[in-house]
Amino acid sequence: MKTKELCYICGAPDALSYYEGRSETIKVKGMERRIDNLSGWECEVCGDGFWDPENDSADRYGEAKDELTLAFRQMIGAEMKRIRRKLHLTQKEAVELLSGGGHNAFSRYERGELLAPKTLVLLMRLLDRHPHLLADAKVLAEGADMRGAFTYTKHDKAESLKTS
Ligand SMILES: [Zn+2]
Repeated sequence: MKTKELCYICGAPDALSYYEGRSETIKVKGMERRIDNLSGWECEVCGDGFWDPENDSADRYGEAKDELTLAFRQMIGAEMKRIRRKLHLTQKEAVELLSGGGHNAFSRYERGELLAPKTLVLLMRLLDRHPHLLADAKVLAEGADMRGAFTYTKHDKAESLKTS
């Protein structure tokens, strides 16, 4: 049994203690991962702590967290895809109308490669609930970004002298 030590995170004396054999379950959106046999140090004053650097607790915990993070992104991605299809938009149209960004932005969101911005998820959910608003969205999107906002007209010298 290791003794209690000074917590170097908050400075409390005799507050940092070692634990082992602990299990933890991480949950997100109805998905969960249980990680067993974790060990580390924790402070009874500030509640902060760290995994035992001499074993694989941090790695196993990190992997479980990464898996859930990916699963979460894929779940949001599947929802985006379902709504986009319901609205009869191609990925390209969805980018031009709703998200902006690169031409494959929507494809990356739908694959769970990137988490869509909250504003976009919210917009998609609103359109899912009120699909008739898509027509309004198409009108209101005009001039809402700089895509195609500029026009360029070249003038030859004679014309510019004449008109100025
Ligand atoms: Zn502390």
